[in-house]
Amino acid sequence: MIRVLFAATDGRWEEYRTVLPAALAAAGLEADLSRDHAPEVVDYIVYAPNSPLQDFSPYTRAKAVLNLWAGVEDVVGNDTLKIPLCRMVDAGLTEGMVEWVTGHVLRHHLGTDAHVLGQDGVWRAGAPPLARDRRVAILGLGELGAACAAALAALNFRVSGWSNSAKAIAGVETAHGAAALPQVLAGAEILVLLLPLTPATECLLDAAALGHLPQGAVILNPGRGGLIEDAALLAALDTGQVAHATLDAFRVEPLPPGDPYWAHPQVTVTPHIASATRPGSASRAIAENIRRGEAGEPFLHVVDRARAY
Ligand code: NAP
Repeated sequence: MIRVLFAATDGRWEEYRTVLPAALAAAGLEADLSRDHAPEVVDYIVYAPNSPLQDFSPYTRAKAVLNLWAGVEDVVGNDTLKIPLCRMVDAGLTEGMVEWVTGHVLRHHLGTDAHVLGQDGVWRAGAPPLARDRRVAILGLGELGAACAAALAALNFRVSGWSNSAKAIAGVETAHGAAALPQVLAGAEILVLLLPLTPATECLLDAAALGHLPQGAVILNPGRGGLIEDAALLAALDTGQVAHATLDAFRVEPLPPGDPYWAHPQVTVTPHIASATRPGSASRAIAENIRRGEAGEPFLHVVDRARAY
């Protein structure tokens, strides 16, 4: 019997308490999923970084921590965690992110605010350019960024992407490494941030980086709040260097009522809903990793502690 500890909030437990055991059984695993296993009997920990479990040292026989979230910035530096940490790669999460990014890119590309929300009796002539004439750049070409890049390229957008290591994605111009960033930014009429938050990406979008964008660029941030230096973005919005920012992730969440982003006319705040782990497909991803662990196969999506993602 494999003992799987579920260490996440009450709400998550309600979502997973039935579907995760079913996925474990479907993977051929005889597993007991519980929130109450004694630490010394636990084989795997299904984990959300906002759970009360912060000291992993009593879990002496556990083989891996399987994160329910794609982002690991709140757990990767935990010194008590000595076993592999696997981040969430979930087809449903990716699908949702592609839909959010595509929808918000199309909003700005088509001028939806002026032409649909306006309805103010002003006849604004002029069709938007074709997608093939609109340059979109995506910072981060991992599970989510690569899928968004491919989807936008399939809609004919001129897509460029930036990552740590070299990539090849059909229809996407790719670049990698810090030296290539200014040029990628310079080609971004619409910029999408899908980087993890790490020491290397914290405040990546500072005043200097914002200055590389073309005048009037639009920023979409479904990544993490800490990627942006907030004061620099607010200043760039005020000068018109950045025409609009649609922000889904913030340094403090929920975004406090008095935060200047709420009131800024050129900012759209969405409440960290760009995407979410979907219990059905995420349970299958967790079950597959446990199956691999039991079969002696390498785990999928193991976090590199040195890179912090
Ligand atoms: P991922 O697969 O780990 O991809 C991360 C990408 O960022 C990779 O392409 C990586 O390059 C690149 N990267 C990392 N550090 C870099 C650096 N210093 N310079 C250049 N490129 C760098 O992650 P993911 O699954 O796509 O998720 C990305 C982030 O989205 C998560 O970390 C999370 O913060 C956020 N997220 C948000 C929501 C939401 O609802 N708002 C939902 C899920 C996830 P390499 O490929 O070369 O390693």
